[in-house]
Amino acid sequence: MTDLAVPPRFLEDVYQAASECNKCSLCQAVCPTYVTNPVEWETARGRVSLIRDAIEGRLELRDIAEGPLSTCLTCDNCVAACAPRVPTALIVSRARMELHEQEGHPPGQSFAFRSILPRPGRLRFLHRLSRAAQVTGLHALARRTGVTRWLGPAGALMEHVGPLPRHTAYKRARSLPEVTQPVRGRVGFLMCCYQNLAMPQATEATMRVLLANGFEVEVPQLACSGLPAKSLGDREAMTSMAVASVDVLRDLKVDMLAGDVASCTAHYKQYDTILAADPTHAVDAQRVAQRTVLATELLADAGQRAELGPLRWRVAIDEPCSLPIDGTTRSAARQLLADVPRLEIVPLGEAAMCCGGPGMYFHEQPERSRSILERKFEHVVASGAEVLVTENVSCLVQLRNGAARYAPGVRVMHVFEVLSESMQTAQRRSAILPE
Ligand code: SF4
Ligand code: SF4
Repeated sequence: MTDLAVPPRFLEDVYQAASECNKCSLCQAVCPTYVTNPVEWETARGRVSLIRDAIEGRLELRDIAEGPLSTCLTCDNCVAACAPRVPTALIVSRARMELHEQEGHPPGQSFAFRSILPRPGRLRFLHRLSRAAQVTGLHALARRTGVTRWLGPAGALMEHVGPLPRHTAYKRARSLPEVTQPVRGRVGFLMCCYQNLAMPQATEATMRVLLANGFEVEVPQLACSGLPAKSLGDREAMTSMAVASVDVLRDLKVDMLAGDVASCTAHYKQYDTILAADPTHAVDAQRVAQRTVLATELLADAGQRAELGPLRWRVAIDEPCSLPIDGTTRSAARQLLADVPRLEIVPLGEAAMCCGGPGMYFHEQPERSRSILERKFEHVVASGAEVLVTENVSCLVQLRNGAARYAPGVRVMHVFEVLSESMQTAQRRSAILPE
């Protein structure tokens, strides 16, 4: 353990970790922002060193807000290469929180975190409004007249997500088939508010595959897990969204909680830390964290029972940054896809490197996000894949945009969409082929 130089002015909880960097520079080559802009402050080493300078009083956090703090993707790609495992994403997130506590929160962001994301009814209303604008042509008109630009982050998000499916995942959950007997367990589904609206077909596929494999699925009405507030440095909003989620999940009579969005599910697993100091929620938060599992990991551990039909597809797997570096979760998608007959999994260069898509990064750092995405698709094209598979909504949206721009022949799918398609192939075959 490194000796701490001076008493910290703030960020006591990450000061020790920030002091563990040994300046080896192994994080350089794996940092997506450094490889697209090779300057020292873009590395984990540079960011952590500057934050430590701020903690010790040699500069102010506001001096590094633009650049070192704002361009980090909080992807933790650097941690895999770092021998002392300096948790750069956590340190940067905590520095952003401290910065906002010192300087105030951006008003638009604060409004979204307090008045939109915690309220499912308002999210539904915005979904209906956005979809109406898309189907009536108002959205196209708004784009032509520059209104989407004037709408700022909301307009940028509409552009980024593209056409919204009519039915949300919550609505689709009402018409799912019965669970296939015998039942292996009851799952409380951790619905991601973003995927619910932007990629509901992926979540529907997840629920169908779980049901076909003997897992009952209960779908509680949740608001946002609080992950965007964590990433953008709003501790108060993050905490209050965690409290609201725990209040919904605490009494659910299920064997486990499972989500199909890697980043959102990983955030639920951190509820024990986020609410550790809350006397009325700490115990339940710990239970939520302990019972939470990524749906791919759940199914890979249990083993697939549903019949899978052949898919003659060449598939590459892009690994969301939020998957744990250690353990088996990262290989679960590959394990599941390996069960699909005739499916060929091809290697993808830099598969674990961020695609530049988390949160609103595409809007706040558009050029950087595009450069990172372009690099990702150089690898996708080189892999020869026809289908690019991932398990995170921000990645799905970003990679879909990347495919449209750099590789129009490549389909981007959630891993459960592939499994669902394989199940349907098996059903079609058994309907036409005699026993
Ligand atoms: S968290 Fe990601 S973007 Fe930030 S320093 Fe590490 S690798 Fe680079
Ligand atoms: S790899 Fe880790 S220890 Fe080495 S310079 Fe980067 S952050 Fe510091």
